[in-house]
Amino acid sequence: MQLIDGRAISEEIKQELALAVKSRKEQGKKIPHLAAVLVGGDGASISYVNAKVKACEMIGFESTLIRYDDSVSEEILLAKVQSLNDDKSIDGFIVQLPLPAHIDELKVTQAIDPLKDVDGFHPTNIGNMVLNIPGFLPATPAGIMEMIKRRKIETEGKNCVIIGRSNIVGMPLSIMMARNSNPGNCTVTLAHSKTKNLKELCLNADILIAAIGQPGFVTADMVKDGAVVIDVGTTRIDDASRERGWRLVGDVDFAEVAPKCSYITPVPGGVGPMTIASLMLNTLKAMDLKGK
Ligand code: NAP
Repeated sequence: MQLIDGRAISEEIKQELALAVKSRKEQGKKIPHLAAVLVGGDGASISYVNAKVKACEMIGFESTLIRYDDSVSEEILLAKVQSLNDDKSIDGFIVQLPLPAHIDELKVTQAIDPLKDVDGFHPTNIGNMVLNIPGFLPATPAGIMEMIKRRKIETEGKNCVIIGRSNIVGMPLSIMMARNSNPGNCTVTLAHSKTKNLKELCLNADILIAAIGQPGFVTADMVKDGAVVIDVGTTRIDDASRERGWRLVGDVDFAEVAPKCSYITPVPGGVGPMTIASLMLNTLKAMDLKGK
């Protein structure tokens, strides 16, 4: 069994991006500038956004963090999105999800200029992704594809089962894995809560990807010998032995599944850091898409 170390791969990418920034500086070109809008005080969202700002600092990107209380109105948030769309100094920005219930997430996502939508959630970018037209790819699935590519994991002709069909992970990943490309060319099954015979489907998977949000859902009896297992799940569970009082767990029962796998991603340190690296790659790409 080989561990796919997402943290190490993301460091490789960040170092490449730092070199790209250095070269842009030497050529007198604009330094990429990423803005992040954070609403409310959800602990997980705060730590994701902080990690994104820290990654910008490490690479040499400029970054701006804009924070609002939970009570911010949809109108104020939409006005901020418009001002970020209009601000020429900002190359890309994200609005960290989830948003409070009184704000329509789709409306906010649709208000973002597709050419600044580095999260890749705007319908235009989703459409471009489906048709394989250049644009921004959603960060988590793109990070998984990059991880597979950099560790030279064979995908052509393999059976890939993805559990979870969210718009940000499972659905786009199913399209990328099925695409006529390398990595890609898989025969994909996209499973969800209404799927029947999930265990049988999983046992037929050469590549099994779990994106559900249920700790330890994938057990050894669902995994074929030699499978590649990618765990997207991140759930905070209470852990009194940790100073912060919690730890992150994945959707895969790592201890029992890992010995059966050819490759497996850990949680933490697998897909999570790749998501951040992907967002950084998209921010650099924003410069190319706009010819800056
Ligand atoms: P989500 O919107 O939370 O939806 C969960 C998906 O899992 C749904 O498609 C649901 O099916 C499916 N599901 C739930 N229970 C199931 C079951 N018993 N059997 C089969 N399918 C089941 O998905 P998400 O936003 O992609 O998040 C999933 C997990 O990934 C979460 O833990 C999240 O924190 C994590 N995540 C991690 C990263 C990262 O960077 N590491 C990024 C994004 C998300 P239905 O559609 O039928 O309801």
